[in-house]
Amino acid sequence: MTKHVMNGFRGTVGNTPLIRIESLSKATGCEILGTAEFLNPGGSVKDRAAMGIVEDAEARGLLKPGGVIVEGTAGNTGIGLALVGNAKGYRTVILIPDTQSQEKINLLRAIGAEVRPVPAAPYKDPANYNHIARRLAEEIENGFWANQFDNTANRDFHARTTGPEIYAQTGGEVTAFVTSVGTGGTLAGVASFLKEKKPEVRTVCADPYGAAMWSWFKNGNLDTDDGDSVAEGIGQGRVTKNIESAPIDDAYRIHDSVMIKMLYHLLMKEGLFLGASSAINVCGAVKLALEKGPGQVITTILCDDGQRYISRLYNPEWLKEQNLDPSRNDLDFLDGI
Ligand code: PMP
Repeated sequence: MTKHVMNGFRGTVGNTPLIRIESLSKATGCEILGTAEFLNPGGSVKDRAAMGIVEDAEARGLLKPGGVIVEGTAGNTGIGLALVGNAKGYRTVILIPDTQSQEKINLLRAIGAEVRPVPAAPYKDPANYNHIARRLAEEIENGFWANQFDNTANRDFHARTTGPEIYAQTGGEVTAFVTSVGTGGTLAGVASFLKEKKPEVRTVCADPYGAAMWSWFKNGNLDTDDGDSVAEGIGQGRVTKNIESAPIDDAYRIHDSVMIKMLYHLLMKEGLFLGASSAINVCGAVKLALEKGPGQVITTILCDDGQRYISRLYNPEWLKEQNLDPSRNDLDFLDGI
């Protein structure tokens, strides 16, 4: 194999470029750097979790030839698992709440997953799609429940790949890492690697409103009763196994009114077409830069691309219904972060 050829699907997961966001680096006097996770083959950071979970299950003998991957997921993890499954010869069954868009169901079916929509139910209800996924995996011969929230192979893969990549790409000069939490695999995995390698690296959670991680890292409780967010894929209400004992120094809350301005700034001034979680992450990076002052090397995650959100985040009518205003006067909106 020649040096610059990636080996199949496996070879194209990770090793994403670290992008310097020029306007924000200039405005803050810090390096504001985002890993381009939208360039993974399935288009999101969750390809890493999917690969980590599947390879760990293979190594532990939980997934054997002819096996079936089962997961409850509405989004990027399902895409990642379906593609990893195809590349490695496993069938994938995805349980999805029937409140999710037909677009997502169509996409998962188009890439080869068997999709089973189920009535939406809260996590504590046994009819919740995650619990159905667990039971289904037990019933199917050679079934394997990916369990992205509490399977720490998710976090471990980030500690083995994303963390070391960020360290190497910054020549070890990274001073901070900021990201939001869905399962917590990215935040916990990268933070634990960087803290071990360089203990003074500051690790920060950027949380949307309506989630509990800010309260958890700041105050040790799970209060969430003050607002909401349109961001998909993030906004965690419980301490998952991936988040447990993660070495996190601080947490910020980022309001959607600022997130949306950052999202459009990144698109119109930087040419980066991203989803809401990426904008929350970049807001978190800028908040840290403004708080701690110039000279830092602050890294974050650009989780997925805007294509998935055209009918929502990039639809003026939908934005109006949500009372979200993307208009900006240059970078004045940074004052409100
Ligand atoms: N952004 C998006 C768009 C996602 O789909 C996810 C995963 N649910 C995340 C961020 C958060 O990643 P993690 O699960 O590693 O916390």
